[in-house]
Amino acid sequence: MSEQPAANKGTIRVLQLYPREMNIYGDWGNALVLQQRLKWHGYTPELLEYNVGDDFPDDVDIILGGGGQDSGQLVIQDDLQARGETLRTMAEDGTPMLVICGLYQLFGKFFKTSSGAVIPGIGILDVETHGTNERLIGNVCLDSPEFGEILGYENHSGQTKLGAGVEPLGTVTKGAGNNSKDGHEGARHRNVVASYLHGSLLPKNPAIADFLIRTAAERKFGSFTPGSPDDTFTDLARTHAARRPR
Ligand code: GLN
Repeated sequence: MSEQPAANKGTIRVLQLYPREMNIYGDWGNALVLQQRLKWHGYTPELLEYNVGDDFPDDVDIILGGGGQDSGQLVIQDDLQARGETLRTMAEDGTPMLVICGLYQLFGKFFKTSSGAVIPGIGILDVETHGTNERLIGNVCLDSPEFGEILGYENHSGQTKLGAGVEPLGTVTKGAGNNSKDGHEGARHRNVVASYLHGSLLPKNPAIADFLIRTAAERKFGSFTPGSPDDTFTDLARTHAARRPR
């Protein structure tokens, strides 16, 4: 990989939500990709974590949230509700955010688990999720009008229905996505990108990483001029991921 360029266009602060409970199938990798691509684009990355009971940091430019077991979602639910107003305000204000699987579900209206527990969401996304006895597992490809072909891996029993207030991230060409019926994957609202895809998502989908970075830079500094990311490994990962069987 090429070295970090000398240019310093400023600091971008990336906050990971609840990495202690919500970080499965390599979701932490999303933070590492933002860290590296921010350097390639000439910014100084600052990675922050927020766990249950922490003080919520100021001046956050990008929010990341990962997936988790139903049990992890139960652990964070009260704290997430307490932070709901802050996160809703940031989302409506245009803060770029990427939420995967378990936190995608809890950025919606609610997740009713297969054992009947209703975990309230924070309602940033007009979606609702119902636990089922069917587990949707495997590699996924989808076509996104905004980001092109997106590749990843899903493993969830919750099935998500989109309401009128969100757009899907894309249409699946392999795998299930939001549910076993309608062929949609993920959700988009303002600058929030929500997806079921682990893997992690960003190493194989740099268009989404660069969307988060560009949006954060434009909001903070008024403009974004890209650097020169080294996509050698990204391209290899995409080629292999696209060939994998479901
Ligand atoms: N516990 C949730 C489900 O099974 C989310 C799983 C995940 O984040 N992969 O639907």
